[in-house]
Amino acid sequence: MKTNDDPALVNASPQAAPPVERQLRGLGVATGIAIGPAYVIDTGAVAVPEYCLPADLIQGERDRFAAAAEKARRQIAKLKSRAATLPESAAEEVSFLLDAHLAMLSGSRLTRGVDARIERDRINAEAAVQAEIAAIARTFAGMDDAYLAARIGDIREVGTRLIRILQQHHYQAFSMLPEGCIVVAEELSPADTALMDPGRVAGFATVLGGAEGHTAIMARSLGLPAVLGISALLAGVRTGDLMIVDGITGRVVVNPGAETLLAYQRCREEIARDREQLKELRQLPAVSKDRVMATLSANLELPRDITHALAAGAAGIGLLRTEFLFMNRDDLPDEEEQYRVLRQIVEGMEGRPVTARTLDLGGEKLVSALGRHFGDCANPALGLRAIRLGLKEPSLLETQLRAMLRAAVHGPMRILLPMITTRGEVCRVREMLHQVAQRLQADGVTLPDPLPPLGIMIEVPGAALSADQLAGLCDFFAIGTNDLTQYTLAIDRGDEAVAALYDPLHPAVLRLIQFTVQSALRAQIPVSVCGEIAGDPRYAALLLGLGVRELSMAPARIPGVKRRIRDLDVAAATGCAEKIMMQADGAAIAAILDNFNARA
Ligand code: PEP
Ligand code: MG
Repeated sequence: MKTNDDPALVNASPQAAPPVERQLRGLGVATGIAIGPAYVIDTGAVAVPEYCLPADLIQGERDRFAAAAEKARRQIAKLKSRAATLPESAAEEVSFLLDAHLAMLSGSRLTRGVDARIERDRINAEAAVQAEIAAIARTFAGMDDAYLAARIGDIREVGTRLIRILQQHHYQAFSMLPEGCIVVAEELSPADTALMDPGRVAGFATVLGGAEGHTAIMARSLGLPAVLGISALLAGVRTGDLMIVDGITGRVVVNPGAETLLAYQRCREEIARDREQLKELRQLPAVSKDRVMATLSANLELPRDITHALAAGAAGIGLLRTEFLFMNRDDLPDEEEQYRVLRQIVEGMEGRPVTARTLDLGGEKLVSALGRHFGDCANPALGLRAIRLGLKEPSLLETQLRAMLRAAVHGPMRILLPMITTRGEVCRVREMLHQVAQRLQADGVTLPDPLPPLGIMIEVPGAALSADQLAGLCDFFAIGTNDLTQYTLAIDRGDEAVAALYDPLHPAVLRLIQFTVQSALRAQIPVSVCGEIAGDPRYAALLLGLGVRELSMAPARIPGVKRRIRDLDVAAATGCAEKIMMQADGAAIAAILDNFNARA
């Protein structure tokens, strides 16, 4: 099998020769194997609006441009850090190019020129960028210098990046993609990913993105094989190239040879057979060999996942991420729209409980209609995210609570609050919930009696460490291990550059989980785990051993976790968890857990 990891060499192969197989490595984030033609998302041409501005808006427009240039610099710096992982010769070339792009964005003719045009011509920033790029290109073209002529392409690329940022251009027209294709892109937002139809798209691969970010979660929810964080991805893939995306090992193969293709086709068939076998577990309970019963629920990213949740035998919806209601639109959904969608989900679950989480926006989950709240802060994950936004903008939260209370009449529902850090936050929301209920009642609206249980996500270390204090204020806990790991270890869950350091088995994370579970058990309130580890059979023994009995995960993962639990002796798993909790580092813990899983 001939392979080639060096992008420079691939491009050097003669046109007529058969394409050289090329293997790339990244982070496998959604299980399964996809084989199909690549479709490279063009980050090029975007339509540019042009309009005149009144004098009092000029300074704001200049600031908007400065913020866009800053964001572009951050994006390029991130691409540069990815480039450092390429083979040496390619790393040097890409890094040189990106340095040139960075230089064009700081105190350059381009940035000064755009700023001057906004002020002088009183036009919007996008139009000013376009005009300045055209002017620079004309000057370079007139210089009759081959080196400068080649730089025109770079300037245009930087200009397009700026325009895309200014326009917050993040909607992708995935509906137009050829059937069975593999989407290849620099980066995909969770909102982009939500637009992919698994019936059309076979899988995707990107340069940026971490294994626990929301794009990865969306991929798992859609059941789309995906590999993220592949540094050299865009260097040698062209639309139409045959491509394999192996979401299990994190490998991508471009133009596979016959031998590789056959091996992957066989592997894909094996996975399909295993999935068929797992279907037989649908009706069976998640009960261990020593008769300990677990509840396996589904995390829902999009309403269409209900079908998968039911097909997988979910006991309910353990986490309904309501962010989908706000994605890919420029306005906010009103109470009626939210009520209709929630009611549909509650009714669709046919009497099984639905845990609806209030809006968790901010951090990497942004929506254009609320963009003014997020600005360009340096640490979005530590900023105005989730419940903090809801409490700062009470009308947003009140609208959601009204819709949830109304929907709760149609079936069992629980209300879950994201990113709680203090007791004060819980008290304020509970107060708000009662006021909303009173107003609805006064308007003659029928409400559930009693009101739905109000619970909180434990996903901030401070909340986990005060779980005993918070338990008395809450009706249930849901442990969000994705954020809990991110915040405990100070590792950005969506950043591929630090993905190797992201470790839910770090003793600090496990101690926080253990303390939270024990606090919940003492207070006699339900506690579940709904982070990504809940859906990985590898962790089932540890979580059950720590006393967790409710797990919530992407629907497709339920059968695998159920199979693991049905094979498990929880008494033995408890012994294993006790041993694990005495360990000093994640590697030792992983070894003990893997050893236990291999034996029992
Ligand atoms: C978590 O943080 O573990 C979680 C379930 O919430 P989200 O992934 O939506 O942040
Ligand atoms: Mg979270």
